[in-house]
Amino acid sequence: MIRYECDKCGQSMGPNDSARYIVKLEIYAAAGNIEMSDDALANPADELANVLDALKSADPDDVEDQTYRCLRFDLCDECRKKLLAEPLG
Ligand SMILES: [Zn+2]
Repeated sequence: MIRYECDKCGQSMGPNDSARYIVKLEIYAAAGNIEMSDDALANPADELANVLDALKSADPDDVEDQTYRCLRFDLCDECRKKLLAEPLG
């Protein structure tokens, strides 16, 4: 039988435990329109090459962290209550 542990306090829970909750945390960049300089607008191919060069040397985890990340946690009932009372801890 699959057993779960609360990711906050470690309490053991069964797969159909009525006191087991799943928390999904989705974080993504809230960027709006991208403002480009007149120089970049005049030379879009150069600007794209600059962006691609920057991505080549960037850490993929850092790039993902800066754009989109989805996390999933199992929580017991008590930790669910605490999270809802103070979501940003
Ligand atoms: Zn817990």
